[in-house]
Amino acid sequence: MDNLQKFYINGEWVSPVSTQTMPVINPATEEVIGTVALGNEADVDRAVAAANAAFEQFSRTSKAERLELLQQVKAITERRFEDLAQAMRMEMGAPITMSRGAQADAAIGHLQGFIDALEEHEERIRLKNGDTMVREPIGVCGLITPWNWPMNQITLKVLPALATGCTCILKPSEHTPISAMIYAEILDEAGYPAGVFNLVQGEGPVVGAAMSRHPDIQMMSFTGSTRAGTAVTRDAAETVKRVTLELGGKSPNLVFADCDLEERVTASVGECMFNTGQSCDAPTRLLVERSCYDEVLKIARKAAEETGVGNPAEEGDHIGPLFDKIQFDRVQNMIKVGIDEGATLLVGGLGRPDGMEKGWFVKPTIFADVSNDMRIAREEIFGPVLVIIPFEDEAEAISIANDTPYGLAAYLQTGDADRAERVAARLKAGAVHINGGGIEYGTPFGGYKQSGNGREGGMMGIEDYLETKTLHGLGSPSV
Ligand code: NAD
Repeated sequence: MDNLQKFYINGEWVSPVSTQTMPVINPATEEVIGTVALGNEADVDRAVAAANAAFEQFSRTSKAERLELLQQVKAITERRFEDLAQAMRMEMGAPITMSRGAQADAAIGHLQGFIDALEEHEERIRLKNGDTMVREPIGVCGLITPWNWPMNQITLKVLPALATGCTCILKPSEHTPISAMIYAEILDEAGYPAGVFNLVQGEGPVVGAAMSRHPDIQMMSFTGSTRAGTAVTRDAAETVKRVTLELGGKSPNLVFADCDLEERVTASVGECMFNTGQSCDAPTRLLVERSCYDEVLKIARKAAEETGVGNPAEEGDHIGPLFDKIQFDRVQNMIKVGIDEGATLLVGGLGRPDGMEKGWFVKPTIFADVSNDMRIAREEIFGPVLVIIPFEDEAEAISIANDTPYGLAAYLQTGDADRAERVAARLKAGAVHINGGGIEYGTPFGGYKQSGNGREGGMMGIEDYLETKTLHGLGSPSV
């Protein structure tokens, strides 16, 4: 934990210029587990200067050299896997089984996805018209990540930057600094030249805004709320940076009567509650065909009642707490809003689960008879709260599904393959999950509409960090 009060800049752990700090709190116990330094504009300047200086050499490394470094990262990440899993368990309350199987697993999975993509990537393409197109690293990148999937988001940004020959400054969420610190230790050990990767901890409106405005940063990659994403876009506009955004969601899950109801509805509730509902692409709006509505309510209620809530340090498939008090209060408020709006509280509700007095634990909650114009159907709640909305036919289901400012993911449960194709084609979302189909590492991830722009992961994730240069006249007799 020594490095928590330092930043990793120019290949060294250095004392911050800023003297501000913040406690890091375990959400399951409400105990302080560390103190993180919060940077300021001067800390950002220092990191950007290091990244800028390192770009000159690192941008000219060969693909083979960069692949070799990524293999080093892989070996060290595998060795420090348990450290990462335990860090996320402590700093954001991810239950340890899930922290290993999904949160820490993402660090290895995405890495392999980028290695595979980089191996295939063509850096130089001869066009049919005789011109040549060269793909070059864009420059110094500013990377801002949220707390809900800490390593998933960090690796989706840091790795493609390093894979393409960019240099970068990472500002992780101030709420999950421990896993980010460990990742910086991993990259340090992997042997990246000084200044290629830099870590500055701190708050969004201070460190994040200083990065977004910095004239020597060429690209900002941001994951977080739509609110903060628009702030980054505005701050970056003055210096005409490339900005890629992965933002919020309110993903619909369309349940047709022709699917295996017992299996698909139970799994759907589980997916909504997974990570205590704190996933940008969680299926939080269950749209149900009227003919099977009553049956679905029974199955969903049972699934929520059987969702365990418990200590993240214990093995098992239970969910953990929300990540902090602010989120706990927000979720409680939204449950109250649902009750006040007249939705039927099917299961769960206000307060902690019985017998739990400490920690930001909440009850898995389902509202039925929700209409899509209610606040609980429109706003991202970011807790284990599912809303159920009935529909009459396919056309109405599609219309309700698309009636949202977001477009990150959509889910579809049907036993009819033709319907699956037909409906998926009309859903405005970056990913459509059919009958439980999950995302593989290396597949592009991102959203339509206010869920962002750009795609992360694999080949498309690499493309985001590249500039295109065209060469004309190369190979002509005079050259
Ligand atoms: P947040 O927007 O509050 O914070 C995200 C990051 O942005 C943090 O590092 C924060 O410090 C920083 N930040 C905040 N204000 C900023 C500003 N003005 N300028 C620059 N940076 C700023 O989000 P959060 O609460 O940490 O995470 C939850 C949100 O992230 C949810 O909306 C969720 O849907 C979204 N999310 C999206 C994806 C995706 O891939 N689409 C993945 C995970 C989370």
